[in-house]
Amino acid sequence: MNVEFYSLGAAEEVTGSKHVLEIDGKSYLIDCGAFQGSRAEADRKNRDFGIAVDRIDGTILTHGHHDHCGLLPLLIKRGYKGNIFATPATRDIASLIMMDSANIQARDAMYLRSQAQKKGEKFDWTPLYNEQDAIQAVSQMVGVSYNRPMYIGDGISLEFHDAGHILGSAMASITVKKGGEELHILASGDLGRKGKPIIRDPAIPGGAPDYIILESTYGDRRHDSTDDAIEKLATLAKRTVQNKGRILIPSFAIERTQELVYYFHLLVDDGIIPEIPIFVDSPMATNATTIFQVHPECYSEEIKDAFIKHHKNPFGFNSLHFTTSVQESKALNDHKGPLIIISADGMCEAGRIQHHLIHNIQDPNTTILTVGYMAENTLGRRIRNREGEVKIHGQWFKLKAQVEEINAFSAHADYFEAVEWLKAMDTSRLKGIFLVHGEKKAQAFFKNYLAENGFPNTQIVQYGKTYEMG
Ligand SMILES: [Zn+2]
Repeated sequence: MNVEFYSLGAAEEVTGSKHVLEIDGKSYLIDCGAFQGSRAEADRKNRDFGIAVDRIDGTILTHGHHDHCGLLPLLIKRGYKGNIFATPATRDIASLIMMDSANIQARDAMYLRSQAQKKGEKFDWTPLYNEQDAIQAVSQMVGVSYNRPMYIGDGISLEFHDAGHILGSAMASITVKKGGEELHILASGDLGRKGKPIIRDPAIPGGAPDYIILESTYGDRRHDSTDDAIEKLATLAKRTVQNKGRILIPSFAIERTQELVYYFHLLVDDGIIPEIPIFVDSPMATNATTIFQVHPECYSEEIKDAFIKHHKNPFGFNSLHFTTSVQESKALNDHKGPLIIISADGMCEAGRIQHHLIHNIQDPNTTILTVGYMAENTLGRRIRNREGEVKIHGQWFKLKAQVEEINAFSAHADYFEAVEWLKAMDTSRLKGIFLVHGEKKAQAFFKNYLAENGFPNTQIVQYGKTYEMG
């Protein structure tokens, strides 16, 4: 058999995941994510797939994050007719994300066109895709539950295992059996962590992989402990009550928001913090929470216990509000007294969080709490770096708010956790590890760390370069 691997996105960077396994001339796409970053660069990268759509024989989607599923509708628009394999929860989350992206692009196009018209400039930007393309992408999805191996091609089977990253997230185990030969490839997708509050821990797949395609987002970092993080959440909430300020939390609508809600719920329940109004101000986060409620097959035992046996809703309590309309969102500007707003997008690149930042970033009683990864060249990264002035919607604002950071809620394994996961697996057949989804500095550190821990055959995957697997 002839098996090759190459990457068309998230090679030496963290967004726009697109990898291809070529098995005896048949191409299988693993994830089809959108690149996020500065508009011009993102646009250029997103419009150039690097592979002819009619050469793709099947698509595997590891999870519903935008940087993994966000270009599926463009794939469909360009004529892809094949299956997209995903877990049922991923299908629902990806549907939400792709529809949201189509809406954002339509709104952006309208806004940019009106701006250009005002200035008398020419305007020719068109969205990558529309809602119909997103709907078509959902209709081509085939649900594959965890631990249910399924043939996706001649002698090629796919099995999903828990990745412990977000609801529905999976690592993809691909087995190729041809002419008496057998090859096992494990694609980690985004590798999660043990002990997250809602979903199960990353699985240890059986089947002794020959090759592992491994993400490396936190290849050079260790996360803080969750206990310290919950304590910090409590401290910030108490400080905010005292100074009658507000906490703005740019958060991904999926998983992180539900986790924050769950942690605030615990803190209020245990009497550690007073009942401070918490607003989840993101229609997508509200919809995502509904998806969480209908996928108990993804829950950890702990939350199953709370949710199913005791009929206690872990995603809702008295002081928690979900805003839906724009009016409700705007009304938060006039809210008197302490307040916590959790709003998307997680990297502050779009969404209602930008309006809240515009209204509060120059107020020293505001705390901007970052709880997730901020890619280079994003507004979120500039805020986290405490740049003196930041540009939002074309206007400059002084950063006078306090900026705090909690790293413990990360949905990605750090280098130590990733190696612990590898060590727990049967690696007796392992011939090589391919690192994707990481910035260069993190990958260089991780490669060394892997070598020191018994995994010397590690390569940092370069964009477009072909690697032999069998
Ligand atoms: Zn992800």
